[in-house]
Order: sequence, then C-alpha cells, then structure tokens
Amino acid sequence: FDPKYIRNFSIVAHIDHGKSTLADQLLLQSGAISQREFREQLLDDMDLERERGITIKARAVAINYDLDGRTYELNLIDTPGHVDFHYEVSRSLAACEGAILLVDATQGVQAQTVANAYLAIGNDLSIVPVLNKIDMQAARPEEIKEEIMHTLGIDPDDVLAVSAKTGLGVPDVFRAIIDRVPPPAGDPKGPLRAMIFDSKFDDYQGVVTYVRVVDGVLKVGQKIRMMAGGTEHEVIALGRFRPREVPCDELGVGQVGYVVANIKKLSDVRIGDTITQALGGASEALPGYQEPVPVVFCGLFPASHNQFDDLRTALQKLALNDSSFSFEPETSDALGFGFRCGFLGMLHMEIVQQRLERESNLALVQTAPNVTYEILTKQGETLHISNPTRIPDAGEVEEFREPIAKVNFIIPSDCIGVIMQLCEDRRGVYIKTEYLSTTRAILTYELPLAEMIYDLYDKLKSATRGYGTMDYELLGYRAGELCRLDILVAGQKVDALSVVVHRAHADRRGRKLVRKLKGEIDRHQFEVAIQAAIGSRVIARESISALRKNVTAKCYGGDISRKRKLLEKQKEGKKRMKQVGNVEISQEAFLSVLDDA
Ligand code: GDP
Ligand code: MG
Repeated sequence: FDPKYIRNFSIVAHIDHGKSTLADQLLLQSGAISQREFREQLLDDMDLERERGITIKARAVAINYDLDGRTYELNLIDTPGHVDFHYEVSRSLAACEGAILLVDATQGVQAQTVANAYLAIGNDLSIVPVLNKIDMQAARPEEIKEEIMHTLGIDPDDVLAVSAKTGLGVPDVFRAIIDRVPPPAGDPKGPLRAMIFDSKFDDYQGVVTYVRVVDGVLKVGQKIRMMAGGTEHEVIALGRFRPREVPCDELGVGQVGYVVANIKKLSDVRIGDTITQALGGASEALPGYQEPVPVVFCGLFPASHNQFDDLRTALQKLALNDSSFSFEPETSDALGFGFRCGFLGMLHMEIVQQRLERESNLALVQTAPNVTYEILTKQGETLHISNPTRIPDAGEVEEFREPIAKVNFIIPSDCIGVIMQLCEDRRGVYIKTEYLSTTRAILTYELPLAEMIYDLYDKLKSATRGYGTMDYELLGYRAGELCRLDILVAGQKVDALSVVVHRAHADRRGRKLVRKLKGEIDRHQFEVAIQAAIGSRVIARESISALRKNVTAKCYGGDISRKRKLLEKQKEGKKRMKQVGNVEISQEAFLSVLDDA
C-alpha cells in the first residue's frame, strides 16, 4: 500500500466529550462495520470499560475510506480522557501524524482538552479541531469556538462541527483528516523499524505486540530482533484491527497492527522498544517513550499467603498491557509477602486492582495509598521513600519533603470562592486566576500531591455541580512539617497502617484513625487496644471490649437456609481478613485509614 494514501491519527478530548462515539461513527460511515454489528462505544471492549462507561486502553483500528476516486487507509487510535491515563494518550500520539481534538459543544474547553491539545502540539501533530454534540439543544458552537481560539490559539474557521451520535457532519471529518494530516514519511526500502506501542498476553499465542511500522516492511516468516531487549523471534502471524483482528502477510510504512512471534517470556517485550530484522537490521532504534513516573503508591498483598507467586505472575501479565504501573516485592509484618506498586493516580490504582482480581482471579488486600517522600537525614543523605514504614524516626530526619503539583482548575466563575477555600484547606498556595469567558475561569494553585490524591477530584465535582475540571503537573519536592504516624493494635505496630501526616493535623488525624479502626475491627475474646503514635508518643487511644460477634444470633433460630447464607457471607468477608498478632483486621479497616473526612 502506497504510504501516500495512509493517514494515522488519534482522537483526543476531555472525558465524555464523545471520542469513543466518534470512533464508532467513523467505523460505521467508512463501512468497517455494518449497522447490524454496531453497538455503542464498540472499541471499549474491556468489561471494566463497559461497566464504567470510560475508555481505559487506547485502541487502534484500520479503516478504508474512498474519497475523490482514491482509497485511503486511515489508522485511528481512540484514547482515554482521564488524567491518570495520560501515558496511554502520549504513546498513541507518538504513533500518529495527526489528532482530532474533540470539544463538547455544550461543555466547552475543559482541563484535559487543554492538556491533550498541548500534548499533540508537543508531538508536532496536525490538529483537526472538531466541535461535537451539536445535535443537543444546549450546544453553543459560536461561544465555544471563541473559547478554543482564546485558550489554544486555533482559528474558529478551522473548527468543524459534528454530532458523533447522529453522524451529522462526519463526512467533513474524513475529508479534513485526508487534507490536513500528512502521510507517514518513513523509508519503505530501509531496514525495518517498527515501534512497539502496546502489548498483551494471550494464553495461546504468548505475547502479542502492537506496532507501528516506521521504515521497511514487516513480514510473516521474518526473523526479528528487539533492539533494546536483544532477543530474536520469528514472526508467526501479522494482522490489523478492522476492528476485529484480520490477518495479513505484511505491514508496510505507516501501518499499524499486531505481531505474534511465539514470545513466551514476558520480559522479552518492552513498550517503546523498536523491532528490526535479525539480519542486516537497523543500527539506530527509534526514540522510545519517556517513562511515566508513578505518583501514588500502595502495598498489594494476596489475601491468602499461598498466592504470592500467582500475584507476581498476574502483575507481570498486566504490566505487559499497562506499562505505566510499577511493582517490587515488599514484606510486611502484618501482611506477609506482597508488592509495593506505583500508579499514575487513584483511578489508575483502582483499575489495576480490579483488573488483577478479575483477570487472574485473586483476592487482594490493599494498603492506604501514599506519595513518594524525599527525606534529608541528619547524616546528610537524601532518600526517596514510597513506603511510609521505611521512613526513619523523627529524630533522624533533618528535612521532610513532599511532592508539589501545579493544578489548573477550569470552573464556573461563581465557584471560584469555594474552590479557593478547598485549596486553602489543603495547604494550597494561590498562583493566579485567568478568565476563559465571562462565565468561566482557570484557577491555578500549587498543592501538595498528598492533599490531592484522595478526594480532591470528587470535592471539585460536587462543589461545581459537576462543571469543574482539573489537570496537574508535578513541580518537584518542597519541605513540609510532616511526620510518620503509626498505628498499634494490641500493643503491636501494624506496619501496613503507618501514614504520613502534617504535624498540624496529626492529633486530629490520629484520633479519627483509632476511632475509625475501632468500628472496623470485630470484637475478640479479649480486649483489644488501638493506639496512634508519633515515635514513642501516643496521641490517641481506643479499646474494643471483649466479646465474640456471632452473626447468626440475629436470626432467632428459625430459617436454617437463611442462617447458612449468613455464615457463608461471613466466610466471604473473612477472605479479606489479615491476622495481626492474635487480632483479625479486615480489608475495610486497612482502607479506612485513607478516609480523611
Ligand atoms: P469519551 O469519554 O470521549 O470516549 O465519550 P463517549 O464517546 O463515551 O461519550 C460520552 C457520552 O456522550 C455518551 O453517553 C454518548 O452517547 C454521548 N455523546 C457522544 N457524542 C454525542 C453527540 O454527538 N450527541 C449527543 N447527544 N450525545 C453524544
Ligand atoms: Mg472513550
């Protein structure tokens, strides 16, 4: 296929602005799928995506489109919109020459609209700006075009207007892609260079890699080499997504598809690596991706001790399909062997845990999330610590530093006061306010990351009736009045429950924690003391009096099947129990320590 007639592009936008719906419409109008095969958000095929109505993984599809007597091949990548999946978007953009920047005509420019537009500009992509949802009564196309011009410097005359739902205006999108996005510029005769932008593990085929060919040709039967990894493999099968997997014999310059090469070792494949031919291969690899930096960490432990190896395998498999989380083994007195995992945000953490449990059928116990701290010790050493239990005792710490983020909020002007208060309560430093229009503003604050990760997003949503959005970037570390708060149950320090708190909030937080834990830990046959301490100083204490809790007592004898059900339910709950000394602590108890309310 002549690369002259190929176009590679992504669809980027703020969450819910209609990316996946537009992708559906492009598939439908190009004839890649029939009306009969059609279902909404067709590319969101992961269970979790359909349940939550969000895109988590970027998806590549090849479609053909006829224009002015020519057949064009369009490779489209649908991307997620949530901040936590930024890394998915940035990898997708590196495989493209253009991007459709979609803006909801009822909502206007939002935080991730701006972030994604800058990402596309930074990747030197041609941007096709498109207003969506113009079928809706509340659409304000002219006003929103002004906003787009104001924030992104885009000429209002270049902005298309469509309804991804009804298909109105979508033919113009095809034409704009073909006219405005340049064809791929690789060398068809040069040595093979194909960029691995994603991968997954398949029980039968082994590791399947998703690539974009930059130079040369990838063929079935070819011997290939991973340039960074150094391993060699034979190509067993190639194909493209249309949107189902359709095998083909070769992939040329600019084409996007999958490669099956009988790769059984998970570590042989690295996202961002370049595939070349084993004989006479390229000498220089393609520039890889900037490694994403995890910002939120937590411990993940198997609920039963004999599942440690299963958890390791599950993590390795998932890491193939999501290279943005990190993990390393950790040992906890209370929880045994597990892993300390790093994520790009709270939603990412939640999704990874759920994918692990579903895709590998594991029950997990998760510790409270925290950020990475930088500690300057009295000896003059600088440590980076992402596990609170490893933080040295207060006497050894010269300076305790925490990550600071610059946060942009896009909010209705009448909400500025509430959001400012929200930020002040979280040790925020005001930077500036800019106006997008008479009714909407961009508010910028510097906030400690630790104060943002738990519930800032939810608080923002409720304070702005759902209209506010936010985006952030990390600035670096700054010294703060921080300390490690430990929790002791029956006199034993529960390492997994240690948290880092600001000194001014330590007492309040400590009291709240022990009270909360008291409600979460079942009564035992002996009295259980719960204490919060900074170093050796106990700052709060509660105790749970002795008595055995028996759920069947509520049944008044009677119905035996109901009794059995209750006992089964109790057993189910036990699955997520952990033994600390001779006290049992539930998963809920571990999670309750992050509840700040
Ligand atoms: P994404 O998060 O950007 O992928 O957004 P989705 O494609 O999942 O769409 C979010 C919601 O907006 C869904 O409920 C869609 O049905 C709806 N939607 C998308 N495009 C349109 C449109 O053009 N008109 C209307 N009325 N609704 C739309
Ligand atoms: Mg989507």
